[in-house]
Amino acid sequence: MLDPKQRIDELTKLLDQYNYEYYVLNQSSVDDATFDNLMDELILLEKKYPQYKHKFSPTSRVGGQVVDSFKKITHNISMLSLGDVFNFDELKDFDRKVKEAIGSDEVSYVAELKIDGLAMSLSYDNGELSYAATRGDGVTGEDVTSNVITIKSVPLKLDIKEHIEARGEVYMPKSSLEGLNKELIAENKTPFANCRNAAAGSIRNLDSSIAAKRKLDSFIYYLVQPEKYGIKTHWEALNFLEKNGFRVNKFRKLCHSFEDVISFINEVEKERPNLEYDIDGVVLKVNDFSKYDLIGYTAKTPKWAIAYKFPPKEVITKLLDIVFTVGRTGKITPNAILSPARVQGSLIQRATLHNEDFIKDKNLMVGDYVSIRKAGDVIPEVVRPIIEKRDGSQKEFKMIENCPICGSQLIKIEAMHFCPNKDCPARNIEKIIHFASRNAMDIDGMGEKVCEQFFNQGFIKDIIDIYNLENYKDDIIQIDGWSNKSFQNLIDGINKSKTNSLERLLFGLGIKEVGEKMAKVLAKIFKDIDTLSKVSYEDLISINDVGPVAANSIVNYFSNQSNLDLIEKLKSVGVNVKYLKEDFINTSNYFYNKKVVLTGTLSKYTRPEATEILENLGAKVQGSVSKVTDIVIYGVEAGSKLEKAKKFNVLTLNEDEFIEKLNSNNN
Ligand code: NAD
Repeated sequence: MLDPKQRIDELTKLLDQYNYEYYVLNQSSVDDATFDNLMDELILLEKKYPQYKHKFSPTSRVGGQVVDSFKKITHNISMLSLGDVFNFDELKDFDRKVKEAIGSDEVSYVAELKIDGLAMSLSYDNGELSYAATRGDGVTGEDVTSNVITIKSVPLKLDIKEHIEARGEVYMPKSSLEGLNKELIAENKTPFANCRNAAAGSIRNLDSSIAAKRKLDSFIYYLVQPEKYGIKTHWEALNFLEKNGFRVNKFRKLCHSFEDVISFINEVEKERPNLEYDIDGVVLKVNDFSKYDLIGYTAKTPKWAIAYKFPPKEVITKLLDIVFTVGRTGKITPNAILSPARVQGSLIQRATLHNEDFIKDKNLMVGDYVSIRKAGDVIPEVVRPIIEKRDGSQKEFKMIENCPICGSQLIKIEAMHFCPNKDCPARNIEKIIHFASRNAMDIDGMGEKVCEQFFNQGFIKDIIDIYNLENYKDDIIQIDGWSNKSFQNLIDGINKSKTNSLERLLFGLGIKEVGEKMAKVLAKIFKDIDTLSKVSYEDLISINDVGPVAANSIVNYFSNQSNLDLIEKLKSVGVNVKYLKEDFINTSNYFYNKKVVLTGTLSKYTRPEATEILENLGAKVQGSVSKVTDIVIYGVEAGSKLEKAKKFNVLTLNEDEFIEKLNSNNN
């Protein structure tokens, strides 16, 4: 791995350079998401290694800079930046902190669009614009009055005669950028990458005829020292600004609950493509000014406001390293270690690279900038390297030849490498974690961390040892975080797993190619593990869902004496090896034999839980809606499947109706 000091130095230098390009040159060599990701990485590293933090780190400065060509203006009250969040969990955390700070759960927020332009301060005296200034470094800005007066929506005169300062955003509408870029290209000049750069480039141009030509516009969103006008809330301040001739965005909402905020954000995301200007998020500000001092400020941002930034679908980050893990079947998986990057709301630091061929086909090199996304909106995926960004420091990927854990020589089967050593410690820990996991034996209290802890302490060396853990009671309750009670809860969880139906055991054993679905098929057909252990390859491939590779693997598994021994041992400690479900299905229940599709997010059940409930009732849960679908059950944010259901006239149930049916007498 990279030396943290070296990485902090590298990131500091890089971010300083990007800030310079963005704020002084009004150009960007990377997109905002990439910049935000690098900033996130630096924040994380500085937290972990504060001794290496630079004195003027980009993490503690408001980004802008002031160039000498403009007259300087000192802001009487600093122009701060905004803290940002990238998903609803982080937003909820902001809400929690605000509520804690004010000591009440009652808080109203004003939600506004985050206009992607350039912050501007407008100062008026005696009813006339006295100057317009950029934010600069927050303390000192640039006097850009001659350019700002060319913007028609900026009032040059006001009815109010006392001093007033209003702040807002100067932006370039999307259509103006399009026109401008066409002209620039025709003149063989470099087009602007986005509306923000174009707006900043126009406003910070010494020739004001340029700004006049560029069709800029403004939205004002902040009144400085509102108490001078007897104004107590931000909502009132916006209305005051509007009434006095400023252009205030109408697409705003006074939210009295967190749910109101979320629904506003969802509404904005839908409307975003139809807006005539670029936005990159939603800004949330506590409405009641009297709470601001209670909530406070950081050096860079107020704590009573936050920017929720829309997640980009694909972002660029650095492939720092490729490391290998050994799975429970001995399969070696190369994994990308990435410079932390936000993708659709989550921080990604790792992504599977599957196998050697995947890496070679994609032409990935260690040290590359890579584009990443979430496949199917869930699983982190490396899409491609950014070849143009190679600078000679990248290293060619070389597949390892020996197991990184036990050193055994790897074998290659098709595209995959395996560690052939069945006693490889890495294999066993993975096997144990998998066996205890939620979708397998579902042992309460035996998550990944506990499995690792017990494995490292030597209490569990193989699956069967889980059922003999009572022998280690005295040792375990000595460990930090364990007590008699938590140990008993664990034993209860382990005992409960003994009564699982066969399919959970089959999946839990980690037989190659036997996933959850196939385990269910096999359990339903063969009913107990002894029967399954004797079936032939031919019997297996005659089953619809079982292909030759899986059939081979199942036969191989049951021809291995140590696997048969394990099964015998499991039986001897009382683990059920029979299929239990069919006997319990009441065939007159509402869902029996129905083809059901789930869509959207349910609040009470995860998707696998709802699937299991339905399958236990004899329903067939399908992935997509067709004319033969009987029922579509939908949660929040249901998308095209719900629309398709309506198109095909398929019965739809919302979550409450679904639960009602589950509880109805028929079941
Ligand atoms: P910011 O743009 O993330 O948020 C603060 C700004 O939002 C305010 O200063 C204001 O100008 C603006 N804003 C828009 N609508 C608003 C509203 N309704 N209420 C209040 N403010 C509103 O912060 P920043 O400090 O201006 O810029 C930092 C961001 O700029 C980074 O997170 C990054 O995305 C981008 N950046 C990119 C590069 C690059 O190279 N691509 C370099 C530097 C910065």
